[in-house]
Amino acid sequence: MPSTPSRHFPRRTAATRRRLAGGATVVMALGLGMAPTTAHADDAQLPTLVKTENIRSHMENLQTIAEYNGGNRASAEPGYDIAAKYVIDQLERAGYTPEKHTYEYDNWNENSPAVLAQTAPEERGFTLEDDFVTMAYSGAGDTTAPGIAVNAETDESGCSADDFSGFPEGAIAIVQRGTCTFTEKTQNAADAGAAGTVIFNNEPGPLLGTVGEESAIPVVGATEEVGAELLAAGDDLELRLSVDSEVVTKSSYSIIAESKGGAKDNVVVVGAHLDGVPDGPGVNDNGSGTAAVLETAKQFAELGAPNNKLRFAFWGTEEEGLVGSTKYVEGLSQKEIDRIALYLNFDMIGSHNFGRFVYDGRGELDGSLPPPAGSAAIQKLFEDYFESQGLVSEPTEFSGRSDYSAFMEAGIASGGLFSGADGVKTEEQVEYYGGTAGEQYDPYYHTPEDTIDKIDWDSVEDLSNGMAYAVEAYADSTLPVNGVLRTHQTQEFVADRLGDLWLR
Ligand SMILES: [Zn+2]
Repeated sequence: MPSTPSRHFPRRTAATRRRLAGGATVVMALGLGMAPTTAHADDAQLPTLVKTENIRSHMENLQTIAEYNGGNRASAEPGYDIAAKYVIDQLERAGYTPEKHTYEYDNWNENSPAVLAQTAPEERGFTLEDDFVTMAYSGAGDTTAPGIAVNAETDESGCSADDFSGFPEGAIAIVQRGTCTFTEKTQNAADAGAAGTVIFNNEPGPLLGTVGEESAIPVVGATEEVGAELLAAGDDLELRLSVDSEVVTKSSYSIIAESKGGAKDNVVVVGAHLDGVPDGPGVNDNGSGTAAVLETAKQFAELGAPNNKLRFAFWGTEEEGLVGSTKYVEGLSQKEIDRIALYLNFDMIGSHNFGRFVYDGRGELDGSLPPPAGSAAIQKLFEDYFESQGLVSEPTEFSGRSDYSAFMEAGIASGGLFSGADGVKTEEQVEYYGGTAGEQYDPYYHTPEDTIDKIDWDSVEDLSNGMAYAVEAYADSTLPVNGVLRTHQTQEFVADRLGDLWLR
């Protein structure tokens, strides 16, 4: 997944651990214009205050909440509500006034397993999962009808209305994957009067996909082999296709908490998604990011008023399409968007077979969304921090697969850390991080085994320290990211925050 790093550092030893904050912090606190890039990592207080054992406690609590509430924290399920209460309670105890940002969203689900079978010229059943899968957001229907290949020898199959000229009303369209979206192929079939669509793969393996919004007719993705069989069956081919699905409008919410002090017109947003998949307790994905942001927020409140306002976000419904963060950004006025200096995202920081991945703010990797200006500065801050700790880090794609997506689309500089999900560790990365080459960074990603005993605690420590460092640095100044330089607002705060040191 990430590209090869240019540097190689040994794993950290006790000797390279951070020292406690010293006198230089006083100089910074007096507002003598030091930007975070010039601050020494060893002067930061927050990485010391944010302790891995406290993050671990939050993760254990999130696992317990899942265990007793249906085994998950999935959106709009009881486990999510109780986890949200936990986060709100913890934030209130730390002096925050958290608010719910509520939204509605469409949830697609299947009430019974889909069926794909050949009924003529010979009967032949196909196996769900192995031979075919329902496309997400497939419409419902149960049809037995002729199966008609639609320009199916090419990957442009079904991409134009012309492909369907003479298509018999009520038949099932058989199309090949490629060139245009599954949505377009399915819509063209529906427009031509098809009662269903089978899209077969053009490479080995199952064809998982989505048609985005509920389609007018049922649609499944089949393997390349199934496609070849259907095409070979000839003119007498008849199929049964049944999908029992529905779209239900649900409601959920994100949790937002702001620091009491700090400039309202220069806000640093720090986010992690609180929901998980239905299949497990989601302790790494994303109990880890949630716990670290929560503990960072709690400890940050101890530091006193910052220069810039911090806004901590615990997103809902990430696993069903980045819904909470997208609805949040969509709900902001342009003025509110302009007041956001940057967004930091933390989605999985304790992967079992981890890497230290920094989001590609320079936009150097192939799979990255174009990063808004300032994102490269965020990447550099994290890279410099890890380097100062004698730790290797590597860039990872801004793939659009987490909650930074809506912020980036709104033009907000973004960054963050990630310990890896379904990518595979290389031999070289084993030298940097330990672990096992040829295995996923998180072998338990989206499974029932995403539990506390699978977490790598070095990963949690390193990445949460990086998070805490960035939060403290950007609370002080976002100059390198958006050009805004502020000094501390009041003398009162300085004395408050550094009472002991001030008197010396
Ligand atoms: Zn996640």
